[in-house]
Amino acid sequence: TKIKMFGARAEEQPIAQQWARTHHVRVDMTDEIIDEQTVDGIKGYDGVTTLQVADLPEDAYAKLKSFGIKQIAQRSAGFDMYDLAKAKKNGIIITNIPSYSPESIAEYAVTTALDLVRRVPRIQQRVREHNFTWQPPIQGRVVGNMTVAVIGTGHIGALTAKLFHGFGAKVVGYDLYPNVQLRSFIDYQDSVNAAVKDADIVTIHMPATAENHHMFNYDLFKQFKPGAILVNMARGALVDTADLLRALDEGLLDSAGLDVYEKEGPYVPNDMRGKQIDDQLFQKVLDNDKIVYSPHIAYYTDEAVKNLVEGGLAATLEVLETGDSKFRVD
Ligand code: NAD
Repeated sequence: TKIKMFGARAEEQPIAQQWARTHHVRVDMTDEIIDEQTVDGIKGYDGVTTLQVADLPEDAYAKLKSFGIKQIAQRSAGFDMYDLAKAKKNGIIITNIPSYSPESIAEYAVTTALDLVRRVPRIQQRVREHNFTWQPPIQGRVVGNMTVAVIGTGHIGALTAKLFHGFGAKVVGYDLYPNVQLRSFIDYQDSVNAAVKDADIVTIHMPATAENHHMFNYDLFKQFKPGAILVNMARGALVDTADLLRALDEGLLDSAGLDVYEKEGPYVPNDMRGKQIDDQLFQKVLDNDKIVYSPHIAYYTDEAVKNLVEGGLAATLEVLETGDSKFRVD
């Protein structure tokens, strides 16, 4: 069996090599993704795994079919870069990895919130200037005295709630489908408005859908407790970025920690040093000292990388051996 692994970064390659040895499979790796140039290189392989960020080329599905390829294993939870109708028409099963290390994202959400609660970016800025004074702009607060609203209480939201509960915070939650098993530490509210009303920290952990596009807009920010902190580790489209900048400007919110931005596509995960950022809104996010921005990196830990590599290869082999996969998306 021969598997072609696209989007294989250097730190992933030893993990894939080890997996290949254990499973007696050949895995050939490239750091490129599937595009117009690379798609023809799949000919001769049995299976494919990739970490696409960009969409697949239009004609890729028909090409893969003509090469006898039956599946593509995407090494992430999101699979919006695939045309599922086209994949199906060409007999190609797309698989994803729905949950590979929820701890990684939950811990980063808490890290980012604590950074803002304890004013770490501001403290570090002052330290760089050799200003070692103690003054109100860098005075912190105690999370154990706070109320935290977790919006979306699935794999990641549930763990985030558990961590904040561990600090002694009161945790309120909102989800379309409240999880009864979490009721001992999440006080579920009937609406997002009710959840954010008394929250000192609001942390978002739901997928972006048509119905929640820009759910976090100026109208909702007006419902926030004055001076609240917003954390978004989920999807950029959930937050109206222009409205967020306005709410921060007007002091409705204290600060925001964003691991995602609604139009991050052209920039993340690329090295943009010395290059122009054409998106003015994104530039404003980067320049705003009330925002801590990170480039969609919450997931990026040793555990997540291992689970993604092994999960992608396992899903590939599963489809090759059984004709289907429990991680099939359609
Ligand atoms: P999940 O499917 O386990 O949980 C999502 C929860 O959101 C579910 O309980 C669902 O009922 C709820 N939900 C969906 N739509 C809702 C709505 N309109 N209102 C209220 N609740 C709603 O997903 P997860 O694995 O916990 O992932 C959560 C988010 O984190 C996703 O957006 C995912 O893309 C994102 N994520 C980010 C990173 C990163 O590196 N920043 C990494 C992985 C996942």
